[in-house]
Amino acid sequence: GTNASMRKAFNYQEVSKTAGKNCANCAQFIPGASASAAGACKVIPGDSEIQPTGYCDAYIVKK
Ligand code: SF4
Repeated sequence: GTNASMRKAFNYQEVSKTAGKNCANCAQFIPGASASAAGACKVIPGDSEIQPTGYCDAYIVKK
């Protein structure tokens, strides 16, 4: 499922419009079964459909 209210609060986008920044290289991302599979996010609880291609205001670059 998705967490619509938290997605909205952080302006989540399914496909990042910010070059070079996306969920796949965000420190908050919890990857899914493969690099292209949906995963989860530490700051959007209860959401299992976070896309590696996504982006939101809570982005923190993965070190
Ligand atoms: Fe994606 Fe935002 Fe979660 Fe980072 S904090 S994984 S950019 S939804």
